[in-house]
Amino acid sequence: MPTIETDEHKALRTAVSALGKRHGRDYDREALWSEAAKLGYLGVNLPEAYGGGGGGIAELSIVLEELGAAGAPLLMMIVSPAICGTVIARFGTEAQKQEWLPALADGTRTMAFGITEPDAGSNSHRISTTARRDPDTGDWLLTGRKVFVSGVDIADATLIVGRTEDSRTGRLKPCLFIVPRDAPGFGRRHIEMELTAQEKQFELTLDDVRLPAEALVGDEDAGLLQLFAGLNPERIMTAAFAIGMGRYALAQAITYAKDRTVWNTPIGAHQAIAHPLAQAHIDLELARLMMQKAAHLYDEGEDVAAGEAANMAKYAAGEACVKAVDQAVHTLGGNGLTREFGIASLITAARVARIAPVSREMILNYVSHQTLGLPKSY
Ligand SMILES: Cc1cc2nc3c(=O)[nH]c(=O)nc-3n(C[C@H](O)[C@H](O)[C@H](O)COP(=O)(O)OP(=O)(O)OC[C@H]3O[C@@H](n4cnc5c(N)ncnc54)[C@H](O)[C@@H]3O)c2cc1C
Repeated sequence: MPTIETDEHKALRTAVSALGKRHGRDYDREALWSEAAKLGYLGVNLPEAYGGGGGGIAELSIVLEELGAAGAPLLMMIVSPAICGTVIARFGTEAQKQEWLPALADGTRTMAFGITEPDAGSNSHRISTTARRDPDTGDWLLTGRKVFVSGVDIADATLIVGRTEDSRTGRLKPCLFIVPRDAPGFGRRHIEMELTAQEKQFELTLDDVRLPAEALVGDEDAGLLQLFAGLNPERIMTAAFAIGMGRYALAQAITYAKDRTVWNTPIGAHQAIAHPLAQAHIDLELARLMMQKAAHLYDEGEDVAAGEAANMAKYAAGEACVKAVDQAVHTLGGNGLTREFGIASLITAARVARIAPVSREMILNYVSHQTLGLPKSY
């Protein structure tokens, strides 16, 4: 794995950073989404044959990190091109690829992703949204509930993780379905969040939602493999989101600490201010290194190794982001809590990276059991 970024990656970083700074923290999400798409950034990971850039998650994570570092993150990038685009590109039928990939790449269509359920939470083995076949028509009928699903209102469809019954064993196995936004029986309720973000979260109800046979993505018997093909990019992209946000907050703090003088030197000269900022920078850099490793492994098709690295990258980035934002707010003193400086709202936003898509504790559980071989308590 190259430890120094390629010239192409550096050029991509510079170009996206310029785009992000042009839009800035008061960005119009839709305008930035369509401009980023036109410039080829949203579909940079999707196959060239379907209108994408032919790159991978390494490139897509650079795009999201740089937009975030400019104060203009696009949360739906984690979902639309990274999870849904990847799963369709890897496992979709030719018709699904034709229908979705060019539109996801050029930004004209967006897809949300729904796995979390109110009664399952972190335990995704417990999800109960069920798909059964109508024996007369071959249609699928989906029933269940989802919660905290982002961007359903702005997405043309949601990729829903459900379960079908294995006819041999009777056990439920995960399967992915494309559910159009306005499908009859597909309801949504906006959840009021204490978050300053342009994307909203929704509780979803699926009440016998009738879908054609072609709504199933990939193979009914390989659901788990297909699901993880989407969840690893999600973790890597959440790391990018967190690193971008952490860098943005840190940059505000550095600028402020260089200028603000209340004794006879700028506050940044006091080590009590400077050292935590230096630590925050180191933690963000280390998290980025793990994110790059995870993206590299994923793009090389090393799904198992990528899984471990993606979890560790998400953990490291979430923690680094929370600390960087906390220290940035503190550095600005009272101004850290003003609307004018706009970083206090990042305190809640940073916590999202610790909770979603998989919590800090569930990653520690994963590393304890999968990597260290320790016994399980649950
Ligand atoms: C802003 C936002 C956007 C989101 N967007 C989406 C989306 O687009 N699509 C989607 O499907 N979901 C989405 N989510 C949901 C998110 O993935 C879940 O919130 C997350 O997986 C945690 O599940 P939960 O909230 O049910 O917490 P719970 O599972 O109830 O966990 C609560 C606490 O208990 C801890 N815990 C649980 N089990 C254990 C254990 N075995 N050991 C130790 N600790 C444990 C957790 O770490 C956590 O701290 C989003 C969430 C947020 C906040």
